[in-house]
Amino acid sequence: MPVATGATCPVHVAVPAVEVCERCGRFVCGECLQFAQDGVALCTACFAKPHGRSTRSGLALALVLAGCLGCVPLTPIGIALAWLELRAIERGEAAAASKAGAQWALGLGLMQLAAGALLLVGLVGFRLWNGG
Ligand SMILES: [Zn+2]
Ligand SMILES: [Zn+2]
Repeated sequence: MPVATGATCPVHVAVPAVEVCERCGRFVCGECLQFAQDGVALCTACFAKPHGRSTRSGLALALVLAGCLGCVPLTPIGIALAWLELRAIERGEAAAASKAGAQWALGLGLMQLAAGALLLVGLVGFRLWNGG
């Protein structure tokens, strides 16, 4: 994005800006200018933050799915990872692109826990009903 003349870098106040960060909209000078893998112009601060799809939400989803397939102890770990990922996205520390994956993992994991709890209650109830 071209920059209006007279704009300066917020970090180097005497240096004229050459670009606008495409993530936060701050002016960026030649020294602060960074390019993401996909060629997007970023400021130094945004470049330091993770971009693209996070591996954490993918891992969370994989753990929850493994839980579905019988590896039940992995489900709470997947839920915790998904929750951490969603918090990180809220704080702007993780890329929003992975939000859907994290939400899926969290939803699936919680459903699994609920189903497991129901099953347990059902089993206990059945045993009590049969006179233990
Ligand atoms: Zn920025
Ligand atoms: Zn600068």
